[in-house]
Amino acid sequence: MCGVIGVFGHKEAAKIAYFGLYALQHRGQESAGIVASNGKVVHEHRALGLVADVFDEAILNQLPGHIAVGHVRYSTTGSTTVKNAQPFCVTHGKQTFALAHNGNLVNAHILRAELEKQGSLFQTTMDSEVIVHLLAKALRKGLIEAIKETMQIIEGAYSIVLLAQNKLIAFRDPYGFRPLALGMLNGGYIVASETCAFDLVQAQYLRDVRPGEILLIDENGLTSYQAVEQERLAHCIFEFIYFARPDSYIFGENVYAFRKRLGFQLAEECTLDTDFVMPFPDSGNYAAIGYAQKAGLPFEMGVIRNHYVGRTFIQPSQSMRDFSVRVKLNPVKEILRGKRVAVVDDSLVRGTTSRTRIRAIKEAGAYEINMLISCPPIKFPCFYGIDFPSRGELIAAKHSVEEIRRYLELDLLHYLSLDGLLKAGQGNRKRFCLACFTGEYPVAVQNALCKEIFEEAS
Ligand code: 5GP
Ligand code: MG
Repeated sequence: MCGVIGVFGHKEAAKIAYFGLYALQHRGQESAGIVASNGKVVHEHRALGLVADVFDEAILNQLPGHIAVGHVRYSTTGSTTVKNAQPFCVTHGKQTFALAHNGNLVNAHILRAELEKQGSLFQTTMDSEVIVHLLAKALRKGLIEAIKETMQIIEGAYSIVLLAQNKLIAFRDPYGFRPLALGMLNGGYIVASETCAFDLVQAQYLRDVRPGEILLIDENGLTSYQAVEQERLAHCIFEFIYFARPDSYIFGENVYAFRKRLGFQLAEECTLDTDFVMPFPDSGNYAAIGYAQKAGLPFEMGVIRNHYVGRTFIQPSQSMRDFSVRVKLNPVKEILRGKRVAVVDDSLVRGTTSRTRIRAIKEAGAYEINMLISCPPIKFPCFYGIDFPSRGELIAAKHSVEEIRRYLELDLLHYLSLDGLLKAGQGNRKRFCLACFTGEYPVAVQNALCKEIFEEAS
């Protein structure tokens, strides 16, 4: 979970990167950063916090140049310190490099131990720093060759933008775990995690950076190198289910339409006789719309979301039960009283917030509550960048659907089947990474890392 952006050939590249990051804010709220270059001199700024708080006009004016890379971080590896904020900057010889990475490497800890043995000094606890060290080591063979070599060593998920003094480079792992799109902006280029970043700056979506591809953008235009052949694709299906913005195209497809198809499939699998369909907003909205349309049931907003709940929210001094959940979603008694409802949400992770929300709509007067989840039970942790807890905390890893239904105090609980999910995906099974549902990991995970994350929470 992170968002990246790269801009080449715009006189205010940092400002474009800022707008892009603003549109990608949902991909990470911990820190934000932009590094810009005029081809000779490189300037950088990064801090903990939201994009709009980290940057202002004055700061952006201190980031001149026609090339920029930016990053919003949601920490999945490394701790929350400004040191771990990206883009990660290093100077090697006379060149400055700035790298922004989305995804998790699965062999970073092994590579890091190896590099440290050889004398490398690390400044951060991020897996992304390993990539920079490997690049620097191979740089005498030329930048593209160095990236190729690095891509053959690192394993796992990476969608990367790299500023190298007077060039912008984008590269992506051969499985295509995380999205990365290429667009055109007034004759220049823009690369971003999601196309919603293009829309805001009125850039044109061209295509995705291909899995295993290196894209070099400089004053000669665009050059493509296929660095690693792809054996199979492994697009993260959870990007479609939950993470990406519905107005984006990822992996060449619109997220909203995909989520609606999840709702259609739910309706194929589970017919209900209820007064209406409602989502837990916002993540459940699109599958709920799809379900209601297919099932021919009315659609209502039975709970209202407060959009202004920030991270630094002050908690009440006396204990108010479930305060942090209630402050985000509030039931509408007028709509719920005496009604049989079908609640649609995108996923269940721990089950704790859902339990509180379900109690709240029951207290508001709903008398029959059926819940539909637009993905199968999440049973396995993610090693490629989605922030799922360890196996012990995933409710579906240890409990049957019937046990979860009882825990959530529901009248009915239905999860979309894997088959239904794949039908909505309109592709063969090999197109997606489904590891969180099936435990089949497309890229083998090293034992040490595995043990750590598989460890049961006590
Ligand atoms: P639970 O009931 O499992 O505690 O929470 C389920 C809710 O968490 C769903 O509404 C879903 O949209 C949301 N969710 C799913 N994955 C994530 C995630 O990675 N981070 C956050 N913050 N919420 C998530
Ligand atoms: Mg949600």
